[in-house]
Formats: sequence, structure tokens, C-alpha cells
Amino acid sequence: MNESSVNDPGFDPDALREKYRQEREKRLRSDGEAQYVELSGRFARYAEDDPYADPGFTRAPLTDEVEVAIIGGGFSGLLAAARLREQGIDDFRIIEAGADFGGTWYWNRYPGAQCDIESYCYLPLLEELGYIPKEKYAYVGEIFEHSQRIGQAYGLYDVACFQTRVSALAWDEGLKRWRIRTNRGDDMKARFVIMALGTASRAKLPGIPGLEDFKGHSFHTSRWDYDYTGGDTTGGLTKLANKRVAVIGTGATAIQCVPFVGRHARQLYVFQRTPSSVDLRGNKPTDEAWSRSLEPGWQAARRRNFADIVEGKPFTEDLVNDGWTDIFRSLAAGIRAAVARGEKLSPQEAARQAELGDFMKMNRIRARVDETVTDPAAAEALKPWYRQFCKRPTFNDEFLPTFNRPNVSLVDVSAAKGVERITRTGVVANGVEYPVDCIIYASGFEISTAFRRRIGFEINGRDGLSLYDYYKDGFRTLHGHSSRNFPNWFYIGVGQNGLSVNMTAMFDDQARHIAYIIAEARKRRAVTVEPTAEAEEAWVETIRSVAVLNRNFQNACTPGYYNNEGGERSGGLNGQTYTPGINKFNALLAEWRAKGDLAGLELQGP
Ligand code: NDP
Repeated sequence: MNESSVNDPGFDPDALREKYRQEREKRLRSDGEAQYVELSGRFARYAEDDPYADPGFTRAPLTDEVEVAIIGGGFSGLLAAARLREQGIDDFRIIEAGADFGGTWYWNRYPGAQCDIESYCYLPLLEELGYIPKEKYAYVGEIFEHSQRIGQAYGLYDVACFQTRVSALAWDEGLKRWRIRTNRGDDMKARFVIMALGTASRAKLPGIPGLEDFKGHSFHTSRWDYDYTGGDTTGGLTKLANKRVAVIGTGATAIQCVPFVGRHARQLYVFQRTPSSVDLRGNKPTDEAWSRSLEPGWQAARRRNFADIVEGKPFTEDLVNDGWTDIFRSLAAGIRAAVARGEKLSPQEAARQAELGDFMKMNRIRARVDETVTDPAAAEALKPWYRQFCKRPTFNDEFLPTFNRPNVSLVDVSAAKGVERITRTGVVANGVEYPVDCIIYASGFEISTAFRRRIGFEINGRDGLSLYDYYKDGFRTLHGHSSRNFPNWFYIGVGQNGLSVNMTAMFDDQARHIAYIIAEARKRRAVTVEPTAEAEEAWVETIRSVAVLNRNFQNACTPGYYNNEGGERSGGLNGQTYTPGINKFNALLAEWRAKGDLAGLELQGP
């Protein structure tokens, strides 16, 4: 974006703003996030079926004690374990629902599943393990193998408790231990607990009337049924050759799997309420000369460089140089140009420049649809009318061309705010029934719904206090990782912390910090560690004071899980994170650790 384009961008920003408002209004539903149903009770089978586990697996219930229980064996749990080992803490256990490590990459083995953050930044512990991903964006097979590699390298298979789901977590003040009940009848004890559940561990279904009536086959994308479709994560879904298939949803998951279904199904209907923004992927094999040239410390440096660009900081080189960094460079272009001219922009002027950059970027995304999709009606429906970060940006080179196939139809359900009904034999939208043999729900996860729904089990701290009651007006934490009245309890995830689109880097930062606190508490012979009431309140205030801009942005966005389906609600993702960004958050924590006084934490001895 240059000076002339800022002054005359070639479009009417007011008209675009108004179009965005109308598209938001069109989709707003009075039932907000209650429109989704939890995968429990009669819908439990959508989550409980584990195609990869031994269904006959049994073991005796455990009633023993460990120093640290890590709940979750995805990347965040693996990182917690690795960082504990580095602190000399080996008495820990990983409790994991799946039959192996991998977390989201264990469950989400749908065809085409791929990381959308560059794999050299996304896959953790690359330098520690001396591994370089094969491609710029690794597919699920390689990512899952990498989680197994971490498990092997850090001796984590010996401490893993697989096929075990935590059902309740309660602090026993007499024992000064957490008691962990599970679906296998366990009553384990642990002094410390690290919650490492990831952000997409609980799938959800759209609460479409008639959901239970369907007599054909149906599954959620996170439990892909290859017995039914044939093939594997790389494609070859040959059993769909005589099948009419519905995919409901067009978020990041559908963008990746729809091309594979479109290639094989006799007929595919894609039911779309809100289009994703779909930018160029441009995957490529790793250049071996480049990987040989990497110097020690390269991964941390690359992640920092990526985060700097994401946060709009000055940079001399864009190491990742992909669709993500292009977005952030585009959004910050006007601001950077003004700074280069020596101008000091007011916050309002900076916001206007960012909005203009956003309009231009989204215009390019919409132009891409016209350039790719031949049917004008489908092209029009596939254009996203919202600001870039209202929804997760996606990157894929096969999704849009799929709509040029004669066997693929896009069904735009925005006017009715979603699919109308499921019948015994098909899907009804806009008053028309589409008969199908199979429905694939690409309907997402409990990412920002009420915290209890996201976690899925009760957590009771001192005096039986429920964590969900404690968080009823939003998170109450020190630095996002722990809460008063929940001694020795730590949380890795998205909360009152610096948020990064590169989640695994963020998890690693949190894991290191938590491992440090646990190690320090042990060195000081503390039995319990928890935030003081004052420190916790101060952090909650800090979060509130920095959250305003984000809230205003989200409240103008099209509905989705980023904004709790249409607006602010306490306890959602929105307005809860440390908006100055991940690098600033990490600097703040590094400074905190450097002081060495565990400020704001209360340690109690024996
Ligand atoms: P999303 O929540 O992003 O998408 C759910 C989809 O279901 C939306 O398109 C939604 O429409 C649609 N939907 C819901 N209810 C209805 C209804 N009643 N009628 C019609 N459509 C409906 O889930 P995903 O699984 O796609 O992605 C979740 C997140 O997981 C991503 O945002 C990303 O963070 C992560 N992910 C990351 C990937 C990666 O590459 N690393 C790949 C896949 C996922 P609407 O938008 O209108 O609500």
C-alpha cells in the first residue's frame, strides 16, 4: 500500500463497512453459541468412537501418587513434560484420552489435514530433536509422527496413561494433593496438575433440527471414518465413488478436506453459512541446502521473527514469508509508510490505516475467488465479507477449484442462518431437500464456548470451589496460568496470556514458565503455590485495560467462535487475552523470572 492508495484506495471504505455490517446482521442468531450441541448424551458417539484405539484395552484402576499429573498428551502436554524433565522433575504422568500422543493431530486425521503455520515454526523441539520437516507445511502423518518422536526422545511412553479420560479433578486439602478420577475408575493423586488440553479437544455439532433422524452415515471430521470413505490422510477415498455426500461447514477443516471429498464422491454438496478467506498456500519441499545452513538457535529466532511481524514490529527480514506474514505486512503497510515519512500517528489514525490495509487485503482475497471459480453465482457466494481476523484465515490451493467440478455444488445457507433441517434421507436448506448417503460435520470445536463445555469435567479447588463458578465473570488468573484457591494447578492454553497464532510456540513458552515455577516451589520446599488475591486481581485488571480494542473489533465481526457467535460475553476468548502480544507477554514473564522472587505467588510450607 503506497501513499496514493491510502488517500485514494480505489474503493469506498464506507460502502465496504456497510456491506460488512449487513453480512454480520444476516448471520446473527439470537441463540448465539447455544446453537451448537455438545457431544454428550445421545450425541456422545460422535466423539467417543476412537478408530485408532484397541477397543478391548483394559487395565486395573490406579490409586497411586505422582508429583505432577499432566492432563493431555498433545503438543502442550508433551512440551510440559519435556520442560519438566529439563528442570530435573521426572516423577510425572501424562493422562491422555487417545491411544497415543498427538492430541489434535491424533484425532484430526481427515484427508488433507495439514498445519497452516509454517512447519519450521509450528513443530516444536525441532532443534532439540535434530529434525527438519519435509515440507514448508507438514501434513498430519508427519506431524503425528513428530509427536511420537517427542514421546520417544523424552521417555514419555513410560509415563503415559493412554485411553484414559479425566472425569473430575478435586483438591484434597487434608492430603494437599489433587485427586484425579477417570473413566477407568482411577483415583490418582498428584501434588501438581498441569492442564494441557489444547484448544480443540472437544468437537461440537450444529444443533440442526432433525440431527438424530438421519438414517445414512454421518461423522465429525475429527473422527474421520476411513472404513466408510476408503483411503487415508493422503486421499484415495474410493469408497465414496457411488456416494452422495454433504459437508456441513466451511471453516479451516473443511477447506482442507473438501478437495479430497470432491475428487472422489459421486456428488458433493458443501453447505456454507460463512465463507472462509482462502489465500494461496504454495507448499514446497524443504530445501536441503537451506536446512544444512541453519545455525544453532534458528528455530527460536524464526519464531521470534514471525511473532514480530505478526505484532507489527519493525523487521529487516521476513524469514517465513508466507500467507500469514503477508496479511500482517498488508495490515501494517500504511502505518509503516507513515512512520517512514516521520509521521506520528494517533491511535485513531493507526486504526484507520490498519482498516484500510485490511480492506485491501480482503479485496485481493475476494478477487482470487473470481479468478478461480468459473460459476459466477458460486464465486459470489464464496467471497468473505468481513475483516481478515474475524475468522481464522485459511490457505489452500485446491479448495476453490473444487467448485469447478461438475459433481460439486455449493449450497449457500447464509440467508436462513444455517442448514434448516436434517431428515431421514438428507439435508434441507433454503426449502430444498438434498438427498445424501453421508453427512460429514465440519462444524468445529468447543474453542470459545463456556469454559465448562470446553474442559468437559468438574474442577474443584479449596473448599470444593468450582473453577467454573470462580470464572463465571471471566478468567481470574495470574498471567493466565494459575488461580487463587486452586493450589498447584496450572493451565496451558488460551486465556489471560499473550496469544499467538503459532499455538505450539505459545504452549512451549507457557510450559517453560510453569516448569520453572514448579521447580522453584520445590526448591523452596513449598507444599503449595498459588497466586495471591492481590496479584490475581491486578492481572485481571491489566487484561481488562488492554482488551478494549480487541472487543470493539470483534463486536463488528461476522459471528463465529472468535467472538462467541456475535458479540462480547465474559469468559469467552474475546477480550480475555493480553493484547500487546506474545513477544511482550514473554518479555514480561522473562523479567518476572529474572527477579527470582516469584512475585504474586503465595508459597506455603509443610
Ligand atoms: P470452525 O468452527 O472454524 O467451522 C465450523 C463451520 O461450521 C463454520 O463454517 C460454520 O459456519 C459451520 N456451521 C456451524 N453451524 C452451521 C449450521 N447450522 N449450518 C451450516 N453451517 C454451520 O471449525 P473448523 O474445524 O473448521 O476449525 C476450527 C479451528 O481449528 C480453526 O479455526 C483452527 O483454529 C483450527 N484448525 C487448524 C487447522 C490448521 O491448519 N492448523 C486446520 C483445521 C482447523 P459459520 O462460520 O457461519 O459459523
